[in-house]
Amino acid sequence: MKDIKKLTETFKELEEQLITCMRCGMCQSVCPLYNETLSETDVARGKLAILKGVSEQFFENIEDVNKVINKCLLCGSCAANCPSGVKVTDIFIKARVALINYEGLSTAKKIIFRKVLSNPSFFNKLLLFFSKFQGVAIKKTKFDSSCFRINIGDRKRHFPKIAPTSFYDRMKKKNRKQISNNKKTGLKVGFYAGCILDKFFPDIAEKVVDILEYHGAAVTLLDKTGCCGIPAIASGDLETFIKLTTLNADLFEEYGCDYYVTACATCTSTIKKTWPLVLDDQNKEMSEKVKIISEKTFDIHRFITEKLSVELPSNSGDKRGIVTYHDPCHLKKSLGIYKEPRDLIKQNPLYEFVESDKSDSCCGMGGSFNLNHYDISKKIGEKKFKNLIKTECQFIATGCPACMMQIRDVAAANKSNVKIKHSIEIYWESLNL
Ligand code: SF4
Ligand code: SF4
Repeated sequence: MKDIKKLTETFKELEEQLITCMRCGMCQSVCPLYNETLSETDVARGKLAILKGVSEQFFENIEDVNKVINKCLLCGSCAANCPSGVKVTDIFIKARVALINYEGLSTAKKIIFRKVLSNPSFFNKLLLFFSKFQGVAIKKTKFDSSCFRINIGDRKRHFPKIAPTSFYDRMKKKNRKQISNNKKTGLKVGFYAGCILDKFFPDIAEKVVDILEYHGAAVTLLDKTGCCGIPAIASGDLETFIKLTTLNADLFEEYGCDYYVTACATCTSTIKKTWPLVLDDQNKEMSEKVKIISEKTFDIHRFITEKLSVELPSNSGDKRGIVTYHDPCHLKKSLGIYKEPRDLIKQNPLYEFVESDKSDSCCGMGGSFNLNHYDISKKIGEKKFKNLIKTECQFIATGCPACMMQIRDVAAANKSNVKIKHSIEIYWESLNL
């Protein structure tokens, strides 16, 4: 039942945070969405004013409020540049949950999140099944990407194919499943691949393991874990998010590692920021567990530079070309990680590193934003891509597989042969493994 009283009460709880917005409008210049639409309801200031309006029972059309709050990349550019320190994305996540509690989740999302995503083994089997038959609907293009053969969504959209063997399955086949015996550092490191690396980019995930082992870590693959939960909580589905967080946190604890490492900016940010944020309001015991896990979880770039003794490689040879770096919002704005990926890229002397203009502007991916607002997402991506290729690069590196997907789509749409790589791949190449 739609309980407007409960909804306004929940929003009243957010009021303490909502009133910290002093309406200065500094968020306008950094909001990638506002820069495309110039609509006040798209920028943080406008959205926060609407949420305040709901808490004061000013707005009755909650369906429209839901649309406004969901039309956002959750990139955090506004929060990172807010002089009042308004925790904009935290507020939006809590507001989305409250709005879905009021409006209810769509049937499609209920099936995707509650039947598929929250059951990791079923999700894995389903993707494996699709991977076998994807050739019927998907064709490879000459731009290191694929497109639909038939009219499903936007036929011009470019995306990577599902890998025929996921990363975890591949490691099982290669007998690299168990903890490696490498004890040089004495560090037991759990590697959490996350859905995109596991299912779309297993090569990159395997390179992460190579690097960790090269630097003397004993690696455990967290192969029983499921999705980090970000697609669910970004859609306001608290039930699925809690189910996934609980399942993952229990498994992380069971694996009992000194540190947990991911090479996906979004997974790292979700584990370090969103798990504690959401669980703090729910269950004290789980909240404590999640806090410990979040402290032990590292982005791979930071982990290598901070926790492992990195020996500089002495590579020489013909230069492969210019590389530039795109800062994923979930690394730079959420976690303050921007120097470490650059340091690792620069360790490969075969590439000339050139910084682009606005290297930390959002690429426009934003998870489900890209699916729901592909036209705007693409325009944001176009601007990003123009700045990147102004460096005359042959390679674009980034620390997030979701950003890789978005930049690859825009590059292919521009018929560009620039290669999109994970920054960790460039570092891996320098090690001559
Ligand atoms: S920058 Fe911060 S304080 Fe200023 S309008 Fe935006 S959210 Fe409010
Ligand atoms: S999170 Fe990003 S897209 Fe959303 S309001 Fe803030 S700057 Fe704009």
